[in-house]
Amino acid sequence: MALIVQKYGGTSVGSPEKIAAVAERVKRFVDQGDQVVVVVSAMSGETNRLIALAQGITESPSPREMDVLLSTGEQVTIALLAMSLQKIGCDARSYTGSQVAIVTDSAHMKARISRIDEQKMRADLDAGKVVIVAGFQGVDEQGNITTLGRGGSDTTGVALAAALQADECQIYTDVDGVYTTDPRVVPSAKRLERITFEEMLEMASLGSKVLQIRSVEFAGKYNVPLRVLSSFQEGPGTLISLEEDSSMEQPIVAGIAFNRDEAKLTLLGVPDLPGVASRILGPISAANVEVDMIVQNVAQDQTTDFTFTVHRNEYKKTLNILQQVCDDLGAREVRGDDGIAKVSLVGVGMRSHAGVASKMFDALAAESINIQMISTSEIKISVVVSEKYLELAVRALHTAFGLDAKAE
Ligand code: ADP
Ligand code: ASP
Ligand code: MG
Repeated sequence: MALIVQKYGGTSVGSPEKIAAVAERVKRFVDQGDQVVVVVSAMSGETNRLIALAQGITESPSPREMDVLLSTGEQVTIALLAMSLQKIGCDARSYTGSQVAIVTDSAHMKARISRIDEQKMRADLDAGKVVIVAGFQGVDEQGNITTLGRGGSDTTGVALAAALQADECQIYTDVDGVYTTDPRVVPSAKRLERITFEEMLEMASLGSKVLQIRSVEFAGKYNVPLRVLSSFQEGPGTLISLEEDSSMEQPIVAGIAFNRDEAKLTLLGVPDLPGVASRILGPISAANVEVDMIVQNVAQDQTTDFTFTVHRNEYKKTLNILQQVCDDLGAREVRGDDGIAKVSLVGVGMRSHAGVASKMFDALAAESINIQMISTSEIKISVVVSEKYLELAVRALHTAFGLDAKAE
């Protein structure tokens, strides 16, 4: 007998029929003697529909009221799943985040879980019930409803698994595991048998939205065995764990992540003096804009060029701030580009292999793709390219690093 937490995403509970199929799957585990806690997302498209409703009323809705609104999506699915289980003779009980209680800080729309009271869940499980919990939501110390950020039901699942010391946290979704890259973009992408927390965290942070970043952080911190599986077909999925796979030769690159969420800004002809970088980025961080990649060139004629990237939503705001900085510093010109994309190779095997970067650059050069920026860490290399070459770049790298699935 095992204690399992299962999380089902929006597509997996997208219709009454799909909810009934989830109930059947849960019942199979119960019949086998397992204790099951189920976390569900809102039906697919529902959270977006609620956001659009709010936008129809005001451009800047209060974050507190947004959380009251958005949490309703998951409240619908917990009740429907409980009814579906009861209908097939499986005792089940649903709870909102606040009822559990999943206590968070008060940062509406991006709250962090601070503690979970697992007593009620434990009592229900011991009484032979399936416990169903609304994903993505919690409650702050003052009793306000909070939400955990888009994709947050993954984090609810992992956090419950950690609190209950579950044997496994299973994330059921519309793909049958974590792939070498998004299979919607590269059809020859391969399912990974396993991947380390560290690699998965990089992949998620660099744009692979198969898991919410926070959920991977949580799983790594509490060493929760995590598996990504398909709701629609049987199979082993992908195990995300602490250990590297020692039985096989470690591939250098585990996967390729990419995102289109960034924009690039450059300040040209900046006087090359101490303190200039801080005078450029100071006003930007004061405006709460997060900076990702930064490149500063070698100075020529006592001036230098300074380039960085920010989230695309912050592009216009940052451009305005930078124009002011340009005037204040006596720099020459501001340039910006919001048609860029970032492509990253991720793999713990890179630690012990030289030449990954040059192989990456060769593969991009062979497709005449210009690299605009580069950044590296121990287990990843990222490049910025023009957005129009994104798919070509990902496919070329996928092939160059031997990641393509063999044709059957
Ligand atoms: P859910 O609604 O179940 O939470 P998501 O849409 O959040 O599902 O996540 C699943 C999607 O993640 C897949 O449909 C796939 O397009 C995308 N994805 C991005 N990168 C990867 C990857 N490396 N492996 C698998 N899926 C990926
Ligand atoms: N329903 C929320 C969203 O769409 C949370 C989730 O699905 O994980 O972001
Ligand atoms: Mg998701």
